Amino acid sequence: MKLSAEFFPPRTQEGLDKLVEVAEGFRPFNLDYLSVTYGAGGSTQERTLATVKALRARDWDVAPHLTCVDSERNKITELLKTYMDLGVHRIVALRGDIPSGMRDLGDFNYASDLVAFIRETTGDHFHIEVAAYPEVHPQAKSWQTDMQHFGEKMAAGANAAITQYFFNPDAYCRFVNAARAQQINGPIIPGIMPITNYEQLARFSDACGSEIPRWLRKRLEAFGDDKTGIAELGLEVIGDLCERVIKGGAPGLHFYAMNALEPTRTLMARARNLAP
Ligand code: FAD
Repeated sequence: MKLSAEFFPPRTQEGLDKLVEVAEGFRPFNLDYLSVTYGAGGSTQERTLATVKALRARDWDVAPHLTCVDSERNKITELLKTYMDLGVHRIVALRGDIPSGMRDLGDFNYASDLVAFIRETTGDHFHIEVAAYPEVHPQAKSWQTDMQHFGEKMAAGANAAITQYFFNPDAYCRFVNAARAQQINGPIIPGIMPITNYEQLARFSDACGSEIPRWLRKRLEAFGDDKTGIAELGLEVIGDLCERVIKGGAPGLHFYAMNALEPTRTLMARARNLAP
């Protein structure tokens, strides 16, 4: 079973050094790759490149994220070339989160446009991953159109998909079944969000449309400032989720590691023991 972890680019050199050390902690798991998120704005985007360089220097297989937001053809072409020169063979292609007030996304409106452009300009060099939404993308007109657009970006040349995080394993299994029924056949890897900080998780989940079930919200809320209690329940709940999606046929797990070794390392160790 394939395992991967996602990081965001640190703001400082000290943070980057620390992240490189955190990555080393994942070495025993023989990860498929480490991915690095990408945001709007010059300095954020430069930090993604710096993080990719630092991880490549340690010989990690790195998958930089690339977004339509704030991107022009020339800039993407240049960045793809830089990544090729660095020995990068993977890209996670996304539309991106649109900063409030931004009207014009750039030369690409949807992830499918970006995938098509990467294929057009670099052939089969990159293994391209796109995003999938078992609980429906928050801006989608309907479940059906969202599935249709997911199919379009896979057909544009994506190799596989990583899902937005979810806490209900049925949402993932049903999404995969529905995709298969539409002849969307690429691997769909569940994105797994470890639980460490309830307030942050609630904020993220409201924004990205991932549902925290009421029973879980209530139990997490009841811990108040008790971080240990939250972490223990989080390990139990997410460990169980990993087990269920693996048993449901998930081809791998992609962890939103939030730049920390734990609890992702413990969850990976449990998942590896489970994998057939
Ligand atoms: P798209 O696939 O383009 O879809 C966006 C919306 O448009 C959907 O509602 C879809 O149904 C609709 N749509 C698609 N095509 C069409 C069409 N032709 N006509 C009309 N409607 C259409 N964000 C970042 O900013 N940086 C990151 O690094 C980042 N990493 C992520 C990693 C993962 C694994 C995931 C799941 C998300 C990540 N995100 C990131 C968040 C992501 O950018 C947002 O969820 C964004 O709102 C949608 O991106 P997308 O690539 O899924 O968009």
